[in-house]
Amino acid sequence: MTIKPIRNQFASDNYAGICPEAWQVLQQADSGYATSYGDDPWTAKACDALRDFFDTDCEVFFVFNGTAANSLALASLCQSYHSVICHETAHVETDECGASEFFSNGTKLLTVGGADGKVDLAEVEHTVKKRSDIHYPKPRVLSITQTTELGTLYTPDELVAVHGLTKRLKLKLHVDGARFANAVAALKVHPKELTWRAGVDVLTFGGTKCGMPMGEAVVFFDKTLAGEFDYRCKQAGQLASKMRYLSAPWFGLLREGAMLRHAGHANACAGKLAAELAAIPQIRLVHPTEANAVFVQLPERCIDKLRARGWVFYTFIGSGHCRFMCSWATTDADIAALASDIRDTTQEH
Ligand SMILES: *Cc1c(COP(=O)(O)O)cnc(C)c1O
Repeated sequence: MTIKPIRNQFASDNYAGICPEAWQVLQQADSGYATSYGDDPWTAKACDALRDFFDTDCEVFFVFNGTAANSLALASLCQSYHSVICHETAHVETDECGASEFFSNGTKLLTVGGADGKVDLAEVEHTVKKRSDIHYPKPRVLSITQTTELGTLYTPDELVAVHGLTKRLKLKLHVDGARFANAVAALKVHPKELTWRAGVDVLTFGGTKCGMPMGEAVVFFDKTLAGEFDYRCKQAGQLASKMRYLSAPWFGLLREGAMLRHAGHANACAGKLAAELAAIPQIRLVHPTEANAVFVQLPERCIDKLRARGWVFYTFIGSGHCRFMCSWATTDADIAALASDIRDTTQEH
């Protein structure tokens, strides 16, 4: 049987395979026996690599995917009668099938608007303050996404404002960092400036989309919130027995900076694509390209023609425009081919 690889795709960074550094460290980790359930040297090294990365003593857990990471992290911050405030396009709201509500036994998500995928702080404040009675689900957490679902970034200054508000309103701060590496690479600041220095209590840190085979790290900067999180993971079916295969890639990608190199490459690819597309008169970029996603408005007939030519991309994210997502594996040739086909389809009649 032959399996034909997909070539023409900008659908998602999770279409990409395993990056060489992750593959290499998996091979190294795959020698002999190792203790199961996370009591192995690779997991210890990966946790230390994350502590070094953030330059702080944080509590780290590895789970299989982002939905689990987000929903278990949020569940650990909340009682069932609490609520979590997030953007209306947040992955936890739109793409996790109610997992946060499920794992927290009913904690309600309350959504707010805001330009380009970033929460409007006045709306957050209004959502918290509009009710204080016992009939309203008590706001407990603000969850933001970095980079956002619309490919934009919260700058360090914006995070200072977010933290000012969460402190004032006594909210915990959670970051969905499925593409956190892209944010660090784009903003060129130390990861601590985007996390614990900015008041982030818990980060779900994505590995899958930056070149690992699978897996996300849940990082508790407030270690007191991590109590019994291991039980939560186990009960949810998220405690890997051969943990070394989830954890070793973190060590592999962090030890020589491969993670930020790959994320920076994906961001640069999106920048190039955005520049090519911005030059085509018929199309409009709908959000600023700040990391590895390019969102454009294309005429319907162009979308159909691109799909007929074999291009794979999403139109269901956010406001329903075309999203072109770059990854560590995107090449200049991919970008040139897509830009050329988009140019063709907008010019054909
Ligand atoms: C991809 C993604 C996740 C993780 O999704 P899983 O499919 O559950 O791994 C979480 N948040 C955001 C913003 C994402 O893009």
